[in-house]
Amino acid sequence: AKADGRATWRFFDPRMQQALDASAALEADLRLALIRQQLYLSYQPVVDRAARVTGVEALLRWAHPQRGEIGPTEFIPQAEKSELILELGEWVLEAACLQLVHWAASAQTAHLTMAVNVSARQFRQPGFIDQVLMVLQRTGADPRLLKLELTESMLLTDMDDVIGKMAALRGHGVGFALDDFGTGYSSLRYLKLLPIDQLKIDRSFVQDMLHSRHAASIVRAIVNLAYSLDLAVVAEGVETREQWSALEAIGCTAFQGYLFDRPAPILDADSMVGYASLH
Ligand code: C2E
Ligand code: CA
Ligand code: CA
Ligand code: CA
Repeated sequence: AKADGRATWRFFDPRMQQALDASAALEADLRLALIRQQLYLSYQPVVDRAARVTGVEALLRWAHPQRGEIGPTEFIPQAEKSELILELGEWVLEAACLQLVHWAASAQTAHLTMAVNVSARQFRQPGFIDQVLMVLQRTGADPRLLKLELTESMLLTDMDDVIGKMAALRGHGVGFALDDFGTGYSSLRYLKLLPIDQLKIDRSFVQDMLHSRHAASIVRAIVNLAYSLDLAVVAEGVETREQWSALEAIGCTAFQGYLFDRPAPILDADSMVGYASLH
């Protein structure tokens, strides 16, 4: 910009305009992606102590025509700034439920549970219960196989509304997990009030537990807490056998991570046999 031009724009950094343009462009692109079917789900197995697959977590991906595969951390925060996240969230729910219906047709996969990440804005919308129930009805998926993953921070405000929504969906068989557990604010009092089934230990603790006593203590505390509250506990981000053994020794009952499988659009036959060879 010329020196005199800059004086006019003293209060507006051109880089700020660029950032605004980029985020508007991303949002527009994302809307098109929904219409043009560029979004898809990858599924990452969750295994039990015997390394058998008990379910998966659905993770959103964007097959961008120019940029290739884009991960959710690059576009979900942008989608969350507008109502677009509601459409995106519904698309994810529907795609995940359709996959459940597909799996229900084969004895080998009929028992698999499907964990779906729900964004704060999506969960807080007044029509959330109906959104979930309608998708279940439309697809014919078994509600007992659906688990919704919420994060601690989104549960802190308007607890009555949160508990009401969870209780209503649980009445239909839908389960709830608390994701990234240990990274937010958790008070023991509210944990006891929330109708959840599962805690998911954040992968940062799993990654550090072998070389940080602090991280190891946190993992142990979460596992004990889960036990005393009668909740299942899943360790995420398990990458090595050593981490797996340490988690097993502490009493963790379910595991997820690259050691078993990376997220993939298709659950391959060898994952269905389980990962017992890793033992
Ligand atoms: P998350 O719910 O904590 O999901 C787990 C993330 O850890 C995934 O990243 C997964 O690919 C990654 N991961 C799994 N195992 C390992 C491992 O062993 N090592 C390492 N380093 N990473 C592992 P991803 O797919 O990039 O997703 C990032 C986040 O985006 C998710 O974190 C979740 O918060 C959000 N997300 C993904 N899909 C959706 C969605 O459909 N809706 C919403 N609202 N959020 C989503
Ligand atoms: Ca999750
Ligand atoms: Ca997580
Ligand atoms: Ca595989």
